[in-house]
Amino acid sequence: MKSSGVLLASTDHLQMSCRGGTGRNYSLICAPIMGKSVDQMLIEIGKAKAGGADLVEVRLDYLNSFNPRQDLKILIKRSPLPTLFTYRPKWEGGQYEGDETQRLDALRLAMELGADYIDVELQVAHEFLSSISGRKPENFKVIVSSHNYQNTPSVEDISILVARIQATGADIVKIATTALDITDVARVFQITFHSQMTHEMKFQVPIIGLVMSERGLISRLLCPKFGGYLTFGTIEAGIVSAPGQPTLKDLLGIYNFRQLGPDTKVFGIIGNPVGHSKSPILYNKAFKAVGFNGIYVPLLIDDIGKFFDVYSSADFAGFSCTIPHKEDALKRCDEVDPVAKAIGAVNCIIRRPSDGKLIGYNTDYIGAITAIEDGLRGSHTTNNSSGSPLAGKLFVVVGAGGAGKALAYGAKEKGARVVIANRTLDRAKEIAELIGGQAISIAELENFHPENGMILANTTSIGMQPKVDLTPIPKRALSSYSLVFDAVYTPKMTRLLREAEESGAIIVSGLEMFIGQAYEQYERFTNLPAPKELFREIMAKY
Ligand code: NAP
Repeated sequence: MKSSGVLLASTDHLQMSCRGGTGRNYSLICAPIMGKSVDQMLIEIGKAKAGGADLVEVRLDYLNSFNPRQDLKILIKRSPLPTLFTYRPKWEGGQYEGDETQRLDALRLAMELGADYIDVELQVAHEFLSSISGRKPENFKVIVSSHNYQNTPSVEDISILVARIQATGADIVKIATTALDITDVARVFQITFHSQMTHEMKFQVPIIGLVMSERGLISRLLCPKFGGYLTFGTIEAGIVSAPGQPTLKDLLGIYNFRQLGPDTKVFGIIGNPVGHSKSPILYNKAFKAVGFNGIYVPLLIDDIGKFFDVYSSADFAGFSCTIPHKEDALKRCDEVDPVAKAIGAVNCIIRRPSDGKLIGYNTDYIGAITAIEDGLRGSHTTNNSSGSPLAGKLFVVVGAGGAGKALAYGAKEKGARVVIANRTLDRAKEIAELIGGQAISIAELENFHPENGMILANTTSIGMQPKVDLTPIPKRALSSYSLVFDAVYTPKMTRLLREAEESGAIIVSGLEMFIGQAYEQYERFTNLPAPKELFREIMAKY
């Protein structure tokens, strides 16, 4: 694939000249405080401090009743963290519907009473800033903000907006836009990255650049890498002041926020959906444990080609790939490992440092097949020390997607006779033809028992959270199987595995496949041996 993207193509050079080697991370974590009373807010501020936030954004518009002088005094005096006061009106996405003069008076009062920052909206910033001209306390900062709840404009339009905000006399610029696609975030990274350079040379003000919605998550996680002044981290999951905010706990505990910097390499899992993936926990914990300068993020991607076109720099160094992109990923790679080519699916992509080319691999089959072999060997019934215990077995793969192809290929390689059962029969037939197996529809599984002692491998997402009551095959059909494997690993014990165990089969969890394929990917990402014991410990906890 050609690296035609505009994004960050030249950032390596810029990083070197700007901040490379300092190891400093300037970005702050701000916890939004949205209590309905001052007392509730003080409790939340205490939690923000305990959770590791650097400052709090006190959202005055969330208070049920507000006595400015008294409440601001208490909040400022009792806050153990620096305070940023925001009194967001409805017309900019907030809760406040009252009089504008009173709103701006309250913000001025916050400044006079010792707030560290206040946030005012661009629309009123000129008037507000001229009203406090010459009266600003030392070290007090005004953030001038602009929120776009519809989309993310072009880089040119965002630059014009930044210039307009700077012209108001803002100490800090805040741009919040909305991601309709993950590639929208790249435009905001470009703005914060370049501003950070000039900011350090004192030409420009710092920028908070955040992109709202689930597709904008990386704008929040990668803020220290691309020079954003701050990111928001919530005290509790789901209680957000803007869509897509991660928790403080995740920023610090999973994403190693304090360790990130301009030269941190970005890895991630490409999928849709991707929120359920345990991969970020696994890789980030391992990166931290061995001191590897990388971050691994969820990448909610709609169009994988567009993603690679835009995120084309060496900063984006490696990717795991899951539903539904494993087959498309293969077409987007510049080179594909022969095994992945034979399987027809890629679950690991490395950007080759020497030329930036994308190289695709399949590590799924190794993890799954090894786990199934281990399961069979442990059973003492099919122990065949000279070869694979799969040799000669009838191996039924349910599903014909990326994982299904990988399992079917792996089982065939080990000498099994392979049957593929899929909802869409034509897809099962395609694989059957490719590897020399039999295809049946998923509905036929119920009465499919040509022999006893078969192996069953579910590679569909049936039974995955949240639909944990589903199973791909009725319980009574499970008695013909000696081993049942489920690629689904959330939950670890699926209904299929529970019923298989009750039917007397050996069961192998998707977690074993997950850990096995993750070893392989980790070594490709880092060129370091995978910390296998650590992987097991981490997965046992989560
Ligand atoms: P994929 O390429 O999108 O394939 C999905 C497969 O599931 C297709 O065969 C599809 O059938 C079938 N399917 C989906 N929903 C179905 C339903 N409601 N009823 C019947 N069949 C259904 O996905 P994938 O990448 O292969 O991943 C499949 C599963 O394996 C996921 O749950 C994933 O989390 C898991 N996985 C686990 C690991 C691990 O390490 N444990 C690794 C990889 C994947 P059609 O062809 O008819 O659409």
